[in-house]
Amino acid sequence: MPRGDKHSCRICGQTNLDVFLDLGDSPLADRLLTKAQLEEKEPVYPLQVAFCRNCTLVQILETVDPEELFCKDYPYYSSVSSSLLEHSRQNVLELIARRRLDAHSFVVELASNDGYLLRNYVDAGIPCLGIDPAEGPAHAAERIGVPTRCTFFHEDLARRLCREGKKADVIHANNVLAHVADTNGFVEGIRLLLKDDGVAVIEVPYVKNLIDHCEFDTIYHQHLCYFSVTALDRLFRRHDLHLNEVRPLAIHGGSLRLYVEPGEAVAPSVQDYLAEEKACGADTFEYYCRFAQAVANIKERLRSLLAGLKSDRRRIMAYAAAAKGCTLLNYVGIDREWVDAIADKNPYKQGKYMTGMHQPIVSTEQVLESMPDYLLLLAWNFKDEIMSQQTEYVARGGRFIIPIPEPVIV
Ligand SMILES: [Zn+2]
Repeated sequence: MPRGDKHSCRICGQTNLDVFLDLGDSPLADRLLTKAQLEEKEPVYPLQVAFCRNCTLVQILETVDPEELFCKDYPYYSSVSSSLLEHSRQNVLELIARRRLDAHSFVVELASNDGYLLRNYVDAGIPCLGIDPAEGPAHAAERIGVPTRCTFFHEDLARRLCREGKKADVIHANNVLAHVADTNGFVEGIRLLLKDDGVAVIEVPYVKNLIDHCEFDTIYHQHLCYFSVTALDRLFRRHDLHLNEVRPLAIHGGSLRLYVEPGEAVAPSVQDYLAEEKACGADTFEYYCRFAQAVANIKERLRSLLAGLKSDRRRIMAYAAAAKGCTLLNYVGIDREWVDAIADKNPYKQGKYMTGMHQPIVSTEQVLESMPDYLLLLAWNFKDEIMSQQTEYVARGGRFIIPIPEPVIV
């Protein structure tokens, strides 16, 4: 076990964590159900969010077995999102130029999914390796020519790769650091695998965006940590790594891209983030308690909005069976009486059912066929992309409900 006890801090190990938000018992987000599974009893797990006064890390208490979460039937294929593909391509092109990468370089991506990012290195003739425990996406990556090992990344795997002579010039790790149960083992693995002049480029959702925009639905069991730059800086220093640059990213509702290197060369961007977090109190428990109150207010307003529309006999469908939708639907209590189906572009999700509230997932063509009065946008982070794809729905009088940061109809 990486942690001393069930409720010790995932970074520093201290045991007195302070819970500030309780989202109740929740099923596993992203674990969509088949029709047959609807009849079975669905497992639920507590979803409580806590603050560590010692190292400032925000984290959930429960750790669900990663095998259960990320391996078989993992439904998320990165290549489905065109904005994510473009975001990744720009990231890679910049790194190739800035680090002068060529056929003698070596790039590793941790949680490489279906090869959505590494394919850009393959195209440029730069050797690379993806590591991902989810079979479906890992096989999809192999099919498009991205070498992939279907396994979890940890310290031991990093040692094995080093013994094979594989040290990395660049390690990518997008939206995975917050998911790993052994945070310290994962970061130590990065240190081992990275060449002394290499760089780890890591994208994580930023806790301050979560708080400022009330993105409580990004809290679910897959997502164990919610990082501030203060907490990240301390985490990397524990492993002789340095957070040298931080950039804000618009994707996923506001993430950070971190440039982490063995040598210390801290850019002003990092100092600015640390100072801003100090100024707004992001290193205090009280800051997170105010957020919890705002979350309770969203629940109340969304419930009254939906109840009002239903009493006017309006039909409401949801859009995008995203993991965050699971938290939102379950915490707010949006059942099939209020939202009768969820449209999703991903064919792997269609024909299945949302966990918890059990709405059927249908194709996006169904939006025009059944013309609901309102579409509740569960993937609000892809709001612009989705709304631009649904111009015909809008032309016929359809409206969108955006639930976060406060419920509005557009
Ligand atoms: Zn701690």
